[in-house]
Amino acid sequence: MTHCTRCGRRLKAPTPTGLGPVCAAKAATRCEATADLWFDTEVLAQRARERLARHIDIETTAAQAQTMYDFAQARERCGL
Ligand SMILES: [Zn+2]
Repeated sequence: MTHCTRCGRRLKAPTPTGLGPVCAAKAATRCEATADLWFDTEVLAQRARERLARHIDIETTAAQAQTMYDFAQARERCGL
């Protein structure tokens, strides 16, 4: 039993590159700017930006809801 040198997935048979079919396909489509790097940094950066944007959306919504709640509480305390 052998494993892909990139992701560790089990391979049925060793390959010349040491990569499994999925990673071999990904490696073939890597862009020139990152070809000398092990990881596709552009894809990783894009995923990070998407995660960050989602996180900011969630936190913004939560902060707005908390602010509205705080205002309602303050109004109640002031008898408005
Ligand atoms: Zn792999």
